[in-house]
Amino acid sequence: MATLEQTPNLQSATHTANQQPTYDLICVGFGPAQLATAIALRDSHSQARVLFLERKPEFSWHPSSILPRTRMENAFVYDLATTRNPRSEFTYVNYLHTKERIVEFANMSILQPLREEFDEYLKWCAEKFQGVTKYGSEAVGIVPIREEGMPVKQWTVAVKDSKSGSQYVVRARSIAVPSPAFKDRHLQQSLLGIPSGQSVISTEEYLERRQELRLPREPRLNTSVVGSSDQSIEILDDLLKCPQLGNITFITESEALAPLKILNDEASRPPPRLCSIWARPSSEPAPSLANSSELIKSIYASAYEKQVASKGHYSLHVVMAKDAAEPSLQSDIAIVEKQDASLSSSGLFHDVDPLILGCRQKGKSLEEVQFKRGAVAEGCKMWMMSASSGGGRSLARDIAVRAGEVVDALPLSDGGKEGVMVISARM
Ligand SMILES: Cc1cc2nc3c(=O)[nH]c(=O)nc-3n(C[C@H](O)[C@H](O)[C@H](O)COP(=O)(O)OP(=O)(O)OC[C@H]3O[C@@H](n4cnc5c(N)ncnc54)[C@H](O)[C@@H]3O)c2cc1C
Repeated sequence: MATLEQTPNLQSATHTANQQPTYDLICVGFGPAQLATAIALRDSHSQARVLFLERKPEFSWHPSSILPRTRMENAFVYDLATTRNPRSEFTYVNYLHTKERIVEFANMSILQPLREEFDEYLKWCAEKFQGVTKYGSEAVGIVPIREEGMPVKQWTVAVKDSKSGSQYVVRARSIAVPSPAFKDRHLQQSLLGIPSGQSVISTEEYLERRQELRLPREPRLNTSVVGSSDQSIEILDDLLKCPQLGNITFITESEALAPLKILNDEASRPPPRLCSIWARPSSEPAPSLANSSELIKSIYASAYEKQVASKGHYSLHVVMAKDAAEPSLQSDIAIVEKQDASLSSSGLFHDVDPLILGCRQKGKSLEEVQFKRGAVAEGCKMWMMSASSGGGRSLARDIAVRAGEVVDALPLSDGGKEGVMVISARM
């Protein structure tokens, strides 16, 4: 992550921020996840000052992917409100009622709405939040506001106006950003830290270079596969079946591949890095071996055969880590997944890394950033949200509930308490 010194625009902009109102929450983006947050706020009659920054000129939901007559994967009750508050005015049923289609919808006897109609539902919800959304506004930097010896109490968000290109800053006590990528794609990102000078080929090139890698050599070629996608696992399986290859190292951050860990000696694994904002959540249940796929079982078998055939000289090492630098050095060539653009690489956060311990997973669609003790004030929070599920092609079912949790966790500013009489009593 960049430091504040490397971003002079942000540094000077911080002074301007002092004249701006401080928001209780700034949400970066206004997709379904943030829209669910807006709805939860409205439903709770919260007085919190909230701002939604959306880089697009208006609300839109993957317009190019909505084929006619295709349906949502989820039943209509998994809209942006019902599971949290079935009495919300933002339920799908209320939307149908407003459009005078509720009986016709019921007559279909199909629980899954048409995508086209769900898109219209989302727009119908979004247009009720015109007052708190800024379209054409891209968040380009988030910086903690520091005071000597004090925990961070606010964040500065630098915003770029998409039309004019001009920048301004706003301040907030809490921040919600889109997850770096949706959960399943998150698992497919390349790991960080392949050292320069290391021989690298991408997973896309693998088929083309496959024969070349298989040529008999002495000493044998040691390879590593870096990634977490199905494609990487298939490549690993393919490499293991080649008797000419030496040691194979598989470096992944996907907890779904945890069953492979037992192939290794516990002591040889590097400790997990917890200092990154993208550290894997600790609460995610590790899948059991019984759930592992045929492919993983085949990997076990091939790895064992490799050990037997080479009389213990060559084996498979599985490294669960975020940083691939050290383990990949043990190989002659690294086969690496193409990296997705993510928030961490977009440079959105500045000076945030030293404050961060990791992330706590709260359901499928929400992660709360955990800060080091005393680094950030109690009421100053940061969440990452994603309403994506099912390989990124469906809507997470828990988004309404998780958005409600963000709203419930939001401490009110003094401004938010205006007009509210607070009575303290000793129990
Ligand atoms: C091509 C495609 C097709 C899909 N089709 C379906 C489908 O048919 N059905 C289905 O259920 N799901 C589908 N999905 C899954 C989809 O991701 C979810 O339905 C849902 O859109 C996720 O909501 P979200 O709010 O988490 O993310 P998004 O919908 O991606 O919303 C995030 C928003 O944040 C904005 N943003 C990001 N960074 C910034 C920034 N720095 N500053 C300002 N704004 C920012 C983006 O412009 C975007 O509007 C599809 C996904 C993709 C990629």
